[in-house]
Amino acid sequence: MTEVISDRPRIGISACMFDCPVRYNGKRFDALAALGRERADFVFTPVCPECMAGFGVPREPIHLTGSGADVLAGHAKVLDRHGRDVTRQLIDGSAACVEALERAGVRAVILKEKSPSCGIAKTRIGSRRRESALGSGVFAAMLADTGWFLIPETAFDSALTWWDWRRRLYAWLWLGDRTIASNGDLTAAWHVVKFILQETQRAEADRIGRELATLPKRAPRETLEGLRARMLDALRVPTTRQRATGALWKTYTHYVKRGQLEGVDLHDLTVRSPEVLRNVTTIAAELTGLERVGFENDLLFGTSPVVFRDARRVKARDAARTEGE
Ligand code: SF4
Repeated sequence: MTEVISDRPRIGISACMFDCPVRYNGKRFDALAALGRERADFVFTPVCPECMAGFGVPREPIHLTGSGADVLAGHAKVLDRHGRDVTRQLIDGSAACVEALERAGVRAVILKEKSPSCGIAKTRIGSRRRESALGSGVFAAMLADTGWFLIPETAFDSALTWWDWRRRLYAWLWLGDRTIASNGDLTAAWHVVKFILQETQRAEADRIGRELATLPKRAPRETLEGLRARMLDALRVPTTRQRATGALWKTYTHYVKRGQLEGVDLHDLTVRSPEVLRNVTTIAAELTGLERVGFENDLLFGTSPVVFRDARRVKARDAARTEGE
């Protein structure tokens, strides 16, 4: 059956993506507009490391002489347009944001790409004139050390990319919160998340599956936690349109074959086979439709095995099911 998270996930977000006018030039944008009503399924904590560094708005743009990780290790600097060293200020501002997010109970953060502070991987290293490589920003590098779930702004590129990031986020939060005290606990958790990993990370999923099957009786805690950590890490990797469409069709035909959809109210859901061309919005709508069918009928939709539904909706579903029995 589908696993349900009922506490709204707490998510950090680069403040300029949350419509706060904090960019160096005072600009902002609302990256969450694409979510519509789904926005209310999360509690957001916006933070801006450059504001917390005391740089002010508007401010001089800054650049890095090495990656964010290099800056944190003391091997590179943060310089403003005049070549002034502002490394310490940005590290302190980033640390203040991490502290605020910890206080807010956050374990996942949406980050603005290409920023010398927030960029996860596409930040330009060097000044404009002497650009050399791409890397992470200082704040993003600090967040990477926390082991949290980092979501790039490209998650909002399309309905399908957001669907993929959201389902992996839910699965990641759910798996991280599970009590894993025995081989059985870990195997049960694996059976929930394995379909995502078999879709996105086939080779690693096969390795984890084999290691689980050959665990010694009463495996030591470190072994169990090591395997959980690998599952959590694998959940960070995005899917592709082709893989998501294939998984959607596979699960749908599995439901049909097993007769699990007989007598189930599919509302207006239509699922087309993978060869049928349709856009990413339609594919995401089909996937979300199957998630809904899985939740309403307590079926495991392996492609998206963990969903968020507030306690009121879970109660309403359970009441409707009891009535129908
Ligand atoms: S530091 Fe981060 S939150 Fe602040 S303006 Fe730059 S990208 Fe946005």
